Amino acid sequence: MKIKINKIKALFYNDKGAYIKECDIYINGNKIVSIGQKPEDFAADKIINGNKKLAIPGLINAHTHSYMSVFRNIADDLSFEDWLFGRINPLEDKLTEEDIYWGAMLACIEMIKTGTTCFVDMNMNMQSVIRAVTDTGMRAVLSRGLVGKGNDEGGRKRLEETIDAYKNCKNDNISFLLGPHAPYTCDCEYLKIVTDTAKKYNLGMTIHLSESENEVENIKKAHKMSPIELMDKIGLFEAPVIAAHCVWLSDNDIKILADKNVSVATNPKSNLKLANGIAPLTKMHDHGINITIGTDSTASNNSLNMFSEMNYTALLHKGVTHDPTVINASDVLRFATKNAAIAVSNKNLGEIKEGMLADITILDIDCPQFYPENELVSALVYSAAGYETDTVIINGRILMENKILTTVDTERVYAECERVIERIDR
Ligand SMILES: [Zn+2]
Repeated sequence: MKIKINKIKALFYNDKGAYIKECDIYINGNKIVSIGQKPEDFAADKIINGNKKLAIPGLINAHTHSYMSVFRNIADDLSFEDWLFGRINPLEDKLTEEDIYWGAMLACIEMIKTGTTCFVDMNMNMQSVIRAVTDTGMRAVLSRGLVGKGNDEGGRKRLEETIDAYKNCKNDNISFLLGPHAPYTCDCEYLKIVTDTAKKYNLGMTIHLSESENEVENIKKAHKMSPIELMDKIGLFEAPVIAAHCVWLSDNDIKILADKNVSVATNPKSNLKLANGIAPLTKMHDHGINITIGTDSTASNNSLNMFSEMNYTALLHKGVTHDPTVINASDVLRFATKNAAIAVSNKNLGEIKEGMLADITILDIDCPQFYPENELVSALVYSAAGYETDTVIINGRILMENKILTTVDTERVYAECERVIERIDR
C-alpha cells in the first residue's frame, strides 16, 4: 500500500538533537520512501491528513514482559522479594499457553494505543507471544526467559524453545534475543552455555542486571565481584546485550558497560515502585553508554505507556543530581527511538527518514496539553499523556486509525484477560 501523510509536523534528529519540521511523508510498502519530495509516479492509496497532528518515530519499549499484563494491579506495595517470589512466581506457574497469549494481546493493545510500535520482550512461552504479535501486527524482539543450573534439562529445554522459534518463525516483524533471566536465576555454567549459543547463532541477549541492592550483595558474597563484573568474566558482553535495570552500579561497572558497548534499558517506574532505587543514568550518559527505556511489566509499573516512562526518565535524574540541565527532552526521545534501534541491532528503525521502515506514531495534538505550541519536543516528554496517539503505522500497515484498532477485537481481549485472572486468582 502507498500512503501519503499530508503536511504533518514531524520529529527528526540532527547532530544537535531532536527538532520538528512540517513535511509530507511518503510510504510505499513497508518503507518510508520520501520526506517532502513526491516520488515519481507515486499514486497514494491512502492519504492521512496531517492537520493538527504530530508524527514521531514509533516508540520502542526496550524491556517488558508482555504476558504479565494479566497481573496488572495484583501485587502492589510489596518488597521486591515478596512481590517476585511470594506473589508473581506462584501465579506465573498457573498460566497456560492460552493465558500468555491473552496477556500479550492486552500488552500489544496498550502499547499501540500509547504509540509504541516495537517491544523487547522476555516471556514464558515463545509461541503464544509470536501469535499475539502476529495477530496484532506489531513489531517485537522476543526472548524466552531462561532459567537454569549447569546443563539441567529445564534450562536446556528453554534454550531449545528459543532457537526453535528463531529458526522457524516466518514473521519478518519479529526478531529474537536469548534471554538469560538474571545472575540469581542462572548459574555461571548455564550463562556460559547461553553465551556460547548466542555466539553460535549470532544472536544478541537481554538480561536483568543489578536491579536490587540484595542481588548485588548476594552475588558479591558468592563470587567476590559485582553482577556486571561477573557477566564480563563469563564473556556475556562479547555478544550484543541489552541489560535491563542497572540500578546498583560501581564506577568500574559503568566502565565495563561502556567499554563492552552494552545497551542499558532503564526502567524508572518499576525501580521506584519496587523500591529498588534510581539508576545512575546521568553517569552512564556521560560515559556514552547506549541508553534505552523500558516499562518492565504491568505487574511492576503498572502500565506499558512509554510516554509516562519518558516523563519519569527526564524528571527523575534532574531531581537526583540537583541539576535541571541533565537528560533533556531530546535525549529522552532519542533513548526511546534511535538508541533502542541500535540496541536491537536494527539500522532501519528509530527515525522518520527515507529508506527506513515505516513505523510511525501520529499524535492528535489538538488538545490542551499541546497548547500553546511553543516547543513540541518538550511537549512530547513533559506534557503528553500518550493517549493522544491517534494513528499507528507499523511496517507500512495501519494498525490504528483515528484511535480505532484495525487488527484487534479489544472487547474480546479484555474479557479473556478477566477470565484468566478469575480462574487463577479469585
Ligand atoms: Zn523485567
